[in-house]
Amino acid sequence: MSADIETSLRGPQSYELAQRAVEVMESHGVWPTIRNFELWVHYVGLKTSPLAEEIERLIAAGEPFTESVGEALAARFLPDSKRNGEILDAGDALSRELQSVAVAIESAQKTSAIYGEQLASASETLAGQDVAKAKSVIDDLATATRAVQAQNKQLATQLGETNAELTRLRENLEQVRRDAMTDGLTNLANRKSFDEALEAACTEADANNQPLCLGIIDIDHFKGFNDTWGHQIGDQVLRYVSSVIGRMGAFPRLAARYGGEEFAVIFPAEQTASAHAVLEEIRLEVSSRALKRRSTNEDLGAMTVSSGIALRLPGEPSANLLERADTALYASKHAGRNRTTIAAPPPATAVAA
Ligand code: GH3
Ligand code: MG
Ligand code: MG
Repeated sequence: MSADIETSLRGPQSYELAQRAVEVMESHGVWPTIRNFELWVHYVGLKTSPLAEEIERLIAAGEPFTESVGEALAARFLPDSKRNGEILDAGDALSRELQSVAVAIESAQKTSAIYGEQLASASETLAGQDVAKAKSVIDDLATATRAVQAQNKQLATQLGETNAELTRLRENLEQVRRDAMTDGLTNLANRKSFDEALEAACTEADANNQPLCLGIIDIDHFKGFNDTWGHQIGDQVLRYVSSVIGRMGAFPRLAARYGGEEFAVIFPAEQTASAHAVLEEIRLEVSSRALKRRSTNEDLGAMTVSSGIALRLPGEPSANLLERADTALYASKHAGRNRTTIAAPPPATAVAA
């Protein structure tokens, strides 16, 4: 939950805000699940946020607020809350683990120190003593040695457990990191990781004096498809198109869901010709497959996609490159869709800027 809403839900108008959220959900036939409540409380509490605008748009379009719509909205607009919670949990567990190891080490150190003192005093006592006295001193030493051994064994066990726990936490954090970079619906890289990857690719292209291409792909007439078949099937089509794009845009390329039904592929060290060939392959693969509704075997027809592609000029800022790829995409749309357009080179001033 965003900090603003979190504060409002502890403030004087908290019950009113929560009540309004539930009322609006009820009036739109939305189940009051925890995730839906979080989304809709944002809607009533932060009317000008991108999430509220998107919900407004869905309402205006009369689109049903299904599970998958809620899931996609939460993944798009509320990823930080989930991530922060998981990271805090992992951080707490880590602190507890380290604290208990520190206590065990401290206790082992104390036992060792006492043992050292006992040894020192024993060697003093033994000097010039008779056999009976020496035997009793040695017995005491054996007892102290067993205590130290037991303590060491306990420490070793505890370290072993901690090691296992740390491995588990590391895996959890790795999963959280992956989730934070992945789009929940399509499993492609999300917008955040795309933005970072594009910046990194630009830096690398300049450092190595290499080309870099960027492709943007948008599903044609997807709104109409959703209107005809519903959002759930629309989501499945998004997954299908994503799987094609993900396959062709596999590492070292990067395929991302840029937003809604729009995707982007970064082509590091590739010239226009090879990037263009890949976008065409994606386009042909998508359009050649007649889709069927799994449950009823109904024919859904074939989807088509339009693409734009731009070759980055040395030093060109990522925003310019994106804009040119986007303009090329719109040229494809205007020329009748189901095609790939190569962007014109940037104006000289844009590169110099
Ligand atoms: P164009 O050919 O010009 O791209 O037309 P379009 O209908 O594809 O484009 P428009 O931008 O008008 O509509 C995009 C649609 O994509 C509207 C929205 O319902 C749908 N969409 C965006 N995200 C999702 C999603 O996560 N799931 C589903 N099912 N639909 C989505
Ligand atoms: Mg579209
Ligand atoms: Mg679009």
